[in-house]
Amino acid sequence: MIVSASGSRKKLRSMLQPLSSTIARLWARRWRGVRFLCYHSVCQPQELSELARRTGVISVDGFRRHLKVIRAHGYRIVSMSDALKLVANGVAGQAQYVCLTFDDGRYDNFANAWPVLREAGCSAHFFVSSALVGQTVYDGVNDREPDRYMDAEMLRTIVREGGSIGSHAHRHVNLTTLTRATVRSELRESRRLLQEIVGCTIDTHAYPWAVYDRDVLAEARDAGYRYCFAGGVGGTVKALEGDHAKLTIPRNTIRSGPDREENYVTVCGGMDVFRPYSTLKLRMRYRT
Ligand SMILES: [Zn+2]
Repeated sequence: MIVSASGSRKKLRSMLQPLSSTIARLWARRWRGVRFLCYHSVCQPQELSELARRTGVISVDGFRRHLKVIRAHGYRIVSMSDALKLVANGVAGQAQYVCLTFDDGRYDNFANAWPVLREAGCSAHFFVSSALVGQTVYDGVNDREPDRYMDAEMLRTIVREGGSIGSHAHRHVNLTTLTRATVRSELRESRRLLQEIVGCTIDTHAYPWAVYDRDVLAEARDAGYRYCFAGGVGGTVKALEGDHAKLTIPRNTIRSGPDREENYVTVCGGMDVFRPYSTLKLRMRYRT
């Protein structure tokens, strides 16, 4: 009998998942600090299978359930500026906080996620690639739906209604593969354009695909970003001592799927056991 690599991975996953869920349940009330969650897309249920090729697509109902679970555990959902203040003032470790972030600036963030957040009275932080603002991108594969991105007016509406915006570079590119001068212009151009659009200071950045190196960190700092975010298995943040910590803040990435158990583990303070494997695969692909 031939067992494929993905078949054995599935088997291993089904064996490890109950253990990881049990640990998460035990840990759910004990962790302290801010958990930064990293979402990408929130779609209508009927779009889920078509959009599953993307990173981190969950359904709007699934997203509602995440918010309910967060609240049911007594965690406080805080805006990005409040989260950073809690960490900077050294008081984040006194309670359980969750800060919701979204990468890429897709249209569904505004159409599907933002109304749910508003309804629940929550804020969120959206990391946007400035060159993609208002764009519709066709990838030319079969009859796939194009990728739509939020336009300037949508970003302004989010800010006006209590959300916030950060940079996700100018184009959505792997910054570690570019010349230093191009990295500089990617980071500075993005900051300048987004500030122009929303009319407030942009001092947060999330690295596309969460990849960075020493030069990228130095350029991000020099471009004026005070806080930069990575991805992967982040755990919780209680304090950020020094430049390096501020420029590589960990987040917990939400996986694609209708209602995945791993996401509840991630939301409740546990560890997605296969995330280190996914992160390693990503790092190898981008050779960081
Ligand atoms: Zn991205």
